[in-house]
Amino acid sequence: MTARPKLGATAWGYAWLRTVEPTAGRPDPRLPRARAIAHRQESALAVDASTITATIADGRREHSVRLRVPPWTDAEAATAEALLASEREHLTTGDIPDHVHRRLTAAGLTVAVPPDEIEAICTCRTREAPCMHVLATLYGLVLSVDERPLTAWELRMPHAASGRRRDPDWLALSELEPGTFFTGPA
Ligand SMILES: [Zn+2]
Repeated sequence: MTARPKLGATAWGYAWLRTVEPTAGRPDPRLPRARAIAHRQESALAVDASTITATIADGRREHSVRLRVPPWTDAEAATAEALLASEREHLTTGDIPDHVHRRLTAAGLTVAVPPDEIEAICTCRTREAPCMHVLATLYGLVLSVDERPLTAWELRMPHAASGRRRDPDWLALSELEPGTFFTGPA
């Protein structure tokens, strides 16, 4: 049995983990199942500019999830760019150290977005919002952000939202073909 990656191992992933698992309130009973789906890697997840797209296998069914995250304002983005300017060497690997996250937070910027500010679409017909597949997608995002913290950064950059090339680093969490992944429901 291979070791499961720890969720929220980086400050960047942890920020997103708090979005799906708020410290206050009763824990959502669906979280363990959503977490298991993300951990079993029965999903494919892609991050492109401010949009997260995922195919979530739930039993025998598959659901397509699309999340849209609001970008930083231009002023926030400028602050973020200035903070990252001293960390250029990390940009090639995508691994931004946790201390940059602390500086970002100290400057009043947030990396993760509360659930009610995330636009979410899922092909399931559940009326619950967020549905379990959206929760699983958020867990998948935590895992991919832990692996490549720059993803959390790119997700919030305003310029990235318009006409930027598709991120070639998008993460396949399963054996699903990337080609078929994007031909799912529009
Ligand atoms: Zn759903």
